[in-house]
Amino acid sequence: MSGPDSPLTSHVMPSYNRSSLRFARGDGAWLTTTDGEKYLDFGSGIAVNTLGHSHPKLVEAITDQAQKLWHVSNLYEIPEQEALADRLCENSFADLVFFGNSGAEAAEGMIKTMRKYHAANGHGEKVTLISFAGAFHGRTLGALAAAGNQAYLEGFGPAPTGFVQCPSFDIAALEALIDDTTAGILIEPVQGEGGVRNVGTEFLRALRALCDKHDILLGLDEVQCGIGRTGKLFAHEWAEITPDVMAIAKGIGGGFPLGAILTTREVGRVMQPGTHGSTYGGNPLACRVGSAVLETVLEDGFLANVQDMAVYFRQHLARIIDENSDVFSGLRGSGLMVGLECVLPNMEIVTALRGANLLSVGAGENTLRLLPPLNIEKTDLDTAIAAIETACQTLRDPQLGEAP
Ligand SMILES: *Cc1c(COP(=O)(O)O)cnc(C)c1O
Repeated sequence: MSGPDSPLTSHVMPSYNRSSLRFARGDGAWLTTTDGEKYLDFGSGIAVNTLGHSHPKLVEAITDQAQKLWHVSNLYEIPEQEALADRLCENSFADLVFFGNSGAEAAEGMIKTMRKYHAANGHGEKVTLISFAGAFHGRTLGALAAAGNQAYLEGFGPAPTGFVQCPSFDIAALEALIDDTTAGILIEPVQGEGGVRNVGTEFLRALRALCDKHDILLGLDEVQCGIGRTGKLFAHEWAEITPDVMAIAKGIGGGFPLGAILTTREVGRVMQPGTHGSTYGGNPLACRVGSAVLETVLEDGFLANVQDMAVYFRQHLARIIDENSDVFSGLRGSGLMVGLECVLPNMEIVTALRGANLLSVGAGENTLRLLPPLNIEKTDLDTAIAAIETACQTLRDPQLGEAP
């Protein structure tokens, strides 16, 4: 029994719908439960474990730093933070970086930065941010208001104002929403939670042009699709455009809490002392891990291999969809951010995949996400492909899934 009136069996707040799996350790793409059962992890902690579990370089970075210095606060200069900011800027559109600890914090900071930019330039009336139906930017009140998903705001009282949602990826509909109060546009180049929806190159280019035309800012939420997930360091690179502001988190920490706001110099310089802060943000431990993740993802051939593995995986998935049209109906996303459109309820399929020792994650529009670590090997992809085929059989003939 569960629900608000069930007897108290755990002192952890009941805010998550958890499976009863308990893991004791992780090694590469594999997790082992406390009972010794192995699962292939294609959830990656929801696009977090970029390099799988217990990657030697990350273990080395965190162990080395843990023996020296964990935290000092941003009252002082932090060389590890400078080093990570340098590396992020060398490899992106950005000139300035602010570090936080999570995706919601990065999205929230991005919203503040976009508004402050206009205020600092004498346009305090430009506060409205336009986002898109199906968006997800995190669980703070500001991030929830920005995404505009009423179900997530329900019961939490007044939400911050100054947010408008565009119902579809349609430039004319979007332009109709722009007025004198518009500060900018917020978008995930590939929506994650909303259903692995790739907004597409054309639309991103049109967005950039529209923002330039109206003198408003383009803010990208690459919390889920960034850091190599799509086969480029950042998803917007596929469209050959650059944003003015970008939020990242999830993959950059490789499993250690870390998020950041990246901006051009023109935008980021408005965030003068006193405007924003985060006690833990950019601590030496997190930044050492972030640098190790980035260094690895930027190694020669790493991203090309992500693209190759994605092509291989997607070819097999397309075949599986063809052969199991009673279970799946389509393929979405970009690179190793894979969405499967489901015919059956997606969580039933997630459960069947778990029964075949493959971990996946549900998403909106009745899709499920497969988010393998980016250093996934072909043999592990083959194991996943076989597990998906097994799960399709089990869904068709449930007796197959029962223990003998
Ligand atoms: C997960 C996610 C967030 C929120 O990140 P948290 O670390 O959970 O706060 C924000 N935006 C996108 C696109 C995400 O996928």
